[in-house]
Formats: sequence, structure tokens, C-alpha cells
Amino acid sequence: LRKQISQQEKMASLGLLSAGIAHEIQNPLNFVINFSKLSRKLLEDMEDVLDELESKLPEDADDEIREIMDDLKENMVKIEDNGNRASSIVRGILLYSRGKDDEYIPTNLCQLTKEYVWLSYHAVRANNKSFNVAIKEEYDETLPPVKVIPQDFSRAVLNLMNNACYAVFSKSKGVTENPYNPTIQVSLKKDGDQVRLVIEDNGSGITKEVKEKLYTPFFTTKPVGEGTGLGLSITKSIIEQKHNGTIEMESEPDKFTRFTITIPIQ
Ligand code: ADP
Repeated sequence: LRKQISQQEKMASLGLLSAGIAHEIQNPLNFVINFSKLSRKLLEDMEDVLDELESKLPEDADDEIREIMDDLKENMVKIEDNGNRASSIVRGILLYSRGKDDEYIPTNLCQLTKEYVWLSYHAVRANNKSFNVAIKEEYDETLPPVKVIPQDFSRAVLNLMNNACYAVFSKSKGVTENPYNPTIQVSLKKDGDQVRLVIEDNGSGITKEVKEKLYTPFFTTKPVGEGTGLGLSITKSIIEQKHNGTIEMESEPDKFTRFTITIPIQ
């Protein structure tokens, strides 16, 4: 299961990464295409000027200039054609990484959240048999189906749950509170025309310094092999870009961390 989750995370990050690169390339590429078009147009203008000047120029000079201009025009066309080719590849990557199966489906979010909370709980238990964490769940069962990309929404839940589990687990190892009852609270409710998902843990908490870099891709405080630093950046882009929602974090080091996600109900 862990392997499956980390594979999902890797694929998602690969998609994000290539989308990011494609996006960054698109602008300079448009620049190249547009300026080669413009330069071709300038060459045509020069031709007109030459036509007007013809009688005043020695014949071989005129021929030579026209020859160079023809070569230049040919080069400009090649630049433009290849620019367009690269541009269509970039568009393809963008389309692909946005996910051809990015389908928004009216979804029972209570059921989906429950499933993934259960999954992450059992993943932690499977790896640390002696560790126990209390999961308190509160669901508004009257919540209407919400249009989401189910695999993306569940990835967001998994990412937040995995971080919460890690936080309570790592706190329990160096615990100062006595007794310490590792607890994760999950609540999913309707709030006006939004749905609000809160995942709160009483684990290690997040310092101000970490908070500033929280959503930066590849930022992690976990040891090598345990964190990719991509979970929250992916979650943020899933929630904000794909679902038009918000993600917020409140925390007090060594006390609690609360992530709140809202998604509009359409
Ligand atoms: P990763 O989990 O691979 O490190 P994330 O982007 O999911 O990547 O998280 C980045 C960092 O944010 C974590 O390394 C951790 O320091 C901090 N963090 C995230 N969630 C929590 C949490 N619930 N409690 C404490 N720290 C957290």
C-alpha cells in the first residue's frame, strides 16, 4: 500500500513537474515564434524598399542583397515552423499532465474521505504495530454530492492524513506530555455553499520557519527516504487550481496542526 501511495505521489509530481516546465517553456517559445514572424515581415518591407531603390543600385549589389534576404527569409520560416512544432509538443504535455482523465464527477465526499482516512490509518498501523492513534471522525451525512476529480481529492486526503500520522508518530517517540494520546480529528461539513474538510492532529506541530516553506515543492523536514516534500505542493495545486478551493494551515509547535480545505459546491 505504501509503495502504491508513493508511486501515486511520484506520478502526480512528475505530471506537475512536466506541466510546470511546459508552462515555463511556452512563454519564451511564443516569443521566438512571434519575433520570427515579425522579422519575416520586416524582410518583406525591405524587399519593397529595394524595389523602390532598384534603379539607383548597381545590379550585382541588388542581386546579392536579394539573395541574402531570400536565405534569411528561408531561415525565418524554419525557425517559425520548428517553433510551432515545439509549441504543439508543449501543448500536448500540458494537456496530458492536466490529465486526460481529469473528470469532475458528483461524488459522495463523506464516503471517499472515510475510505482514505481508513487506508492511511491502516498503512501506519501496518508499519508500526505497537503504535496507536485515535481517529475521531465527524461527517455531515446530508452533504450533497460534490463535483470533484475523485482520484485527486483522495490524494489530497491521503497526503494530509499521512502527514498527520507522521506528526503524531514522531511526537510519540520524543514525547514530553504524559500521558500523550495521539489523536487525529477529521471533520467534513457543509458550510454555506462550500464543503469544509478539517484534518487536525495533536502531533509535533509546525514552526514559523517551516510554515513559510510548507507548500514549496521538495521542501521536507523528514529524513531522506521518508519524505519527498511534494505532498503539500501537490495538495495545494489540487485544491486551488483544480477545485477552485482554498487550503489553510494553523499550528502550534508541539501542540496541534490543523489543515482546512474548502471546496465550492456547484
Ligand atoms: P513530505 O511529507 O514529503 O515532507 P509535504 O509537502 O507533505 O512533504 O510536507 C512538507 C513538510 O511540512 C513536512 O516535511 C513537515 O515538516 C511539514 N508538515 C506537513 N504536515 C504536517 C503536520 N501535520 N504536522 C507537522 N508537520 C507537518
